[in-house]
Amino acid sequence: MKTVNEPTYTAHITGQLKRFDDRNTGFSRGAVEGDKYTLMHDKSVLNIEKQATGKTILDHATWVAGRTVDYLVRRNLLGRVAVPVYNRKYKLKHPDAAAMTKTIKEKARWIGADMVGVAKLNPLWIYSHWGNHNVAYSRAAEAGDPIEIPSEYKTVIVMIHEMGYSAIQQSPGVEPETDIGYAKASWSASSLATFMAELGFRAIPAVNELGISIPMAVDAGLGEMGRNGQLITRDYGPRVRIGKVFTDLPLIPDSPIDIGVQKFCEKCALCAKYCPGRALMTGERTDRAWDASNSSGMLKWPVKAMKCFDFWVKNGTHCSICIRVCPWNKQNNVLHKMVRALAERNVLTNLVIHADQLLGYGKKVVEANNQQDSSVTIIDS
Ligand code: SF4
Ligand code: SF4
Repeated sequence: MKTVNEPTYTAHITGQLKRFDDRNTGFSRGAVEGDKYTLMHDKSVLNIEKQATGKTILDHATWVAGRTVDYLVRRNLLGRVAVPVYNRKYKLKHPDAAAMTKTIKEKARWIGADMVGVAKLNPLWIYSHWGNHNVAYSRAAEAGDPIEIPSEYKTVIVMIHEMGYSAIQQSPGVEPETDIGYAKASWSASSLATFMAELGFRAIPAVNELGISIPMAVDAGLGEMGRNGQLITRDYGPRVRIGKVFTDLPLIPDSPIDIGVQKFCEKCALCAKYCPGRALMTGERTDRAWDASNSSGMLKWPVKAMKCFDFWVKNGTHCSICIRVCPWNKQNNVLHKMVRALAERNVLTNLVIHADQLLGYGKKVVEANNQQDSSVTIIDS
């Protein structure tokens, strides 16, 4: 794995980057333009009666159950300064940055993170204002409130949680890995922030709140940005959820990495080909923004966020097809590590992509939940 001085996206910067307004994310616009997130869940309930494989009452219940902890933690802890539970008296006197970095990474893994990295906080990745969706779930502010992370928060710790491989294969059926992934990210970010608060330092845990997680993860050496608009990690590809903690604890940043994703995505485009919402781009990168949900100033493959979200509403659950079909989405075993060695070096890329398709990776796999009859009756009120 090659470390680099600058994140690989910097080669594609064409103009002045500006902080993004959280009110313009697909989720926030969806909240304003008709409460689409609720509509998606309502559609999931409507789907129950059809008993279609992957969208039964058991699938629905698993999906919603996966999110339980996330909803609770978001409402109480995320997007806010962590408060020490017991120790308000003492502070670690001589925190050595190298030793603390090692300790923080150990604690992050102990809490449950599958990968962890540290980056110098780039203020450009902090949202300029709170958006409607994050406000609705965190209740940490009002929509439109400005966001300022004080300058003493110099560092962001980014944690990665793997999403289960076989569940993602079932998308666009209900795959609860996204939701349990958010729950894990909420858990790990808030727990790590509490650890730092008890040491006497400032820490703000967040998942989707406060800033754009993907470039922070890239800065922290955890992967690169892909054509599908997601973080592509070396070990799990885009099959991950991200949590983060902003802190004033002195830490040593990791170096960003180049695992060959930029050149690979230039040749691949499988995510765009199979996207049911036509939300992803084939062809060359552009620095043109399609609409308010994109930013300009960097050549990339901007996602048409509302097209994506509209498909989720129609589908009655979120969609992970652009994760499922990505050749980087593999189980982290010996065979795939060998192929990954080629992909990372951009050797035989066309062959790797072709073989991936030929061997049926990325195909939808339907695992009927046949342990239980999923027929339903109306609840007496
Ligand atoms: S989540 Fe589905 S609809 Fe959205 S961009 Fe990915 S493949 Fe397309
Ligand atoms: S599917 Fe292909 S183009 Fe899309 S993110 Fe994955 S590697 Fe890149």
